[in-house]
Amino acid sequence: MISANDALDELRDGNRRFAAGEIDADSIASRVHKVGMSGGQNPFAIILACSDSRVPVELVFDQGLGDLFVIRVAGNIVAPSQIGSIEFAASQFGTRLVVVLGHSNCGAVIATLKELSLEQTHRSPNLRAIVDRVRPAIEPILQAHTHSDEATLTGAAVRANILASVDKLSHGSLILEQLIESGELTIVGAEYSIETGKVEFFDRDRL
Ligand SMILES: [Zn+2]
Repeated sequence: MISANDALDELRDGNRRFAAGEIDADSIASRVHKVGMSGGQNPFAIILACSDSRVPVELVFDQGLGDLFVIRVAGNIVAPSQIGSIEFAASQFGTRLVVVLGHSNCGAVIATLKELSLEQTHRSPNLRAIVDRVRPAIEPILQAHTHSDEATLTGAAVRANILASVDKLSHGSLILEQLIESGELTIVGAEYSIETGKVEFFDRDRL
């Protein structure tokens, strides 16, 4: 299995190709030709991303079948099923890198901001389970940005939510903590810009 650093380089290169519009029908076809991988999988990165329809993970990193182990949930939140999925992939495949991929104008973050501002209540307990997981990261941001415009506030809230998920995963379970401590797993945050198609990684310096 490749190192976390090499995995990060692969993702950065792939996103550069995507953002530059270098992906054409031929390159997508060559990816799909890997169909028939019944022998197993060997994903070099685990990605916890938002369900937003504008952030298809394999496409934005220009990766093919079997390359990425992807978990998608509104607001890229961390709940037990996300932790379990990551434990499974890291233990089963020896994948060294986890990326929490948030994105600009995230609907789950905006919904939480609205709820905090207007004290609206959601009728669905299932939707509440998502908002309640976003809320702790967002509350201090809302207080610190009382004079900011909406775009600045939303941007800060999106980043805080990504970093909160990185933090929750890093201390999410004994298995993940041990893998991180032994240097076998690295978790980083990243933000995808819907406007530019570019992904910015937050914790590159720590690697
Ligand atoms: Zn989102």
